[in-house]
Amino acid sequence: MSNTIHPILIIGAGPAGYTAAIYAARANLQPFLIQGPHPGGQLTVTTDVENYPGFADVIQGPWLMEQMEKQAINVGTKTEFDIVESVDFSQSPKEIKTASGNIYKAHTVIICTGAQAKWLGLPSEEKFRGFGVSGCATCDSFFFKGKKVFVLGGGNTAVEEALFLTNHAAEITLIHRREELRAEKILQKRLLENPKITVRWNTVTEEIIGIEDPFKKVTGIQLKNIKDGSVEKLTADGVFVAIGHSPATEVFKGQIDMDKTGYITVAPGTTRTNIPGVYAAGDVCDAVYRQAVTAAGLGCMAALDATKYLQTENLI
Ligand code: NDP
Repeated sequence: MSNTIHPILIIGAGPAGYTAAIYAARANLQPFLIQGPHPGGQLTVTTDVENYPGFADVIQGPWLMEQMEKQAINVGTKTEFDIVESVDFSQSPKEIKTASGNIYKAHTVIICTGAQAKWLGLPSEEKFRGFGVSGCATCDSFFFKGKKVFVLGGGNTAVEEALFLTNHAAEITLIHRREELRAEKILQKRLLENPKITVRWNTVTEEIIGIEDPFKKVTGIQLKNIKDGSVEKLTADGVFVAIGHSPATEVFKGQIDMDKTGYITVAPGTTRTNIPGVYAAGDVCDAVYRQAVTAAGLGCMAALDATKYLQTENLI
């Protein structure tokens, strides 16, 4: 175990983590960032990004994350490719144990471990991800102008995605495995009243159909009605999977307050958790907005919150 006590230790290397690092480094706090199992986060599994401000032309998600990493390093962040296995927030400084056997100590910790979209787990879904299968209508709806798309799921996300898709797609079908939506009533009302949207109840997706020539794309979907067992193949240009997200908070369980779905709880309008000196930013504490730009904004707030704590506690 090293005797170094890091002023700011950041866990996670998505937009929230790198933005926190950039701000902390520019405050001369030598942030130490543990990258975790998926450096770059969810943007490394998307392709075109058109909604991150500052880029007039389409950029690629992996490229954007490379730039954020380089920027964080250039201003003074030290990064380590390692995976956090456990944390001890009961003492000061806080302790973080990693898979490589290291134990890091820090006065403040910023948790930016993100969340992952849940997927159905079909090989065809995996094969066409980024080629008609998407986990984010806000990001990709634009590519489906005048097209026929399907949204899978019955929660707030699925309903919001279906409604958002009405801005571009011509025909939207929501597929739900039960006959009652989990989404809030006001969203349900909007969905059911929208003439562009049809709902198929008691239906599950068996397969996503597509072609590889002349280029890879989704062409259809195979559905099964679980009440009568009937199977149907329908044409489709896009499939939006919206069956929930899982925040990456397993290693923090028992150490920090979370809601019942595992999202870290922060004081409203801040990134403060219930543990003094521990902050959360990005999708790990945000089930609602979940955008790269909002994660980056929260990362900035976390660095500022942590800096203020260090000053108040006379730790710097
Ligand atoms: P939810 O967990 O609320 O909903 C997931 C939906 O997907 C459910 O309808 C579920 O079906 C369905 N589902 C899950 N697994 C499968 C599967 N394998 N096959 C088919 N269907 C499946 O997730 P959301 O992402 O919608 O929401 C997460 C949280 O974020 C919620 O608390 C939500 O309220 C919140 N949120 C709030 C928003 C807002 O306030 N504007 C916007 C978006 C999210 P079933 O119902 O049968 O379980």
